Amino acid sequence: MQELPMDLETFKRWNIGDIRVTRVLELPPTAFDPAIFIQATRDDVLAHNDWLCPSFTTEEGDIILHFQSFIIEAGGKRIMVDPCIGNDKPRGHPLLDRLDNPFLERIERAGFPRESIDYVLCTHLHVDHCGWNTMLVDGEWVPTFPNARYLFARGEVDFAQAETDGDAPAIFADSVKPILDAGLADTVDPGDAIVEGVTLKATPGHTPHHCSIVLTSRGEEAIITGDVIHHPLQAALPHISSNFCWDDATSIATRRGILEHAASHDILLLVAHFAGSSGVTVKADGDVWTVEET
Ligand SMILES: [Zn+2]
Repeated sequence: MQELPMDLETFKRWNIGDIRVTRVLELPPTAFDPAIFIQATRDDVLAHNDWLCPSFTTEEGDIILHFQSFIIEAGGKRIMVDPCIGNDKPRGHPLLDRLDNPFLERIERAGFPRESIDYVLCTHLHVDHCGWNTMLVDGEWVPTFPNARYLFARGEVDFAQAETDGDAPAIFADSVKPILDAGLADTVDPGDAIVEGVTLKATPGHTPHHCSIVLTSRGEEAIITGDVIHHPLQAALPHISSNFCWDDATSIATRRGILEHAASHDILLLVAHFAGSSGVTVKADGDVWTVEET
């Protein structure tokens, strides 16, 4: 595991018609042995390194991952998607444990003080997608975004609460339960529009009720895909899932569906863990795909 240099104060932005999306990183880009995250070897990476390196992989065949949030501005509202890992949270993995990062200062510098967020939307409730739901104040976990409604896909809260492995009970206790207790949570369903042009799409597999977010405006479309795909290598090898998927077969079918849809309709994908610009277009290559940064 190796952190790579990057100016984290340079905020990548996309316009999808009248909708604007801003990317804010929590951690520097980090290089990992691929087998830690996805069901792939270094040789699998090296076989595709002509198009993966240097944005998405190192010359040695490590995969580079981002940990970041996307903030949507649409219909006069601000929607924080997947608020990362969070500070001060006791976690089993050293990458995640008791962080002390200026993420809130960073989103403020990007133009989004935490009080200005209208909605928080978690694609799912894993450790790196819901951490900043809360922050530690005087020994208590309190909602980080006090003026926001927190939107959870139907069934995902129950799924997260029932998880007993590893850090799951701690994640639920410090990052989900305080939101429920504060009365700030709303349940949403696939097909629901959060505001005009921002619609939830069921993308199960990584978790059973995992949702992606479809952005449409003035004939343009983008999808924020959460953990449907973790690394661009999975476009070329879509049968490779992450090591953290609830159901690999469902995950593969969902991933193929999104890649096929993006390639055939020229849709921008904004991907939680993709390094480089994190926004890609998809090109078909037989019955698999390649991606290009945009
Ligand atoms: Zn993730």
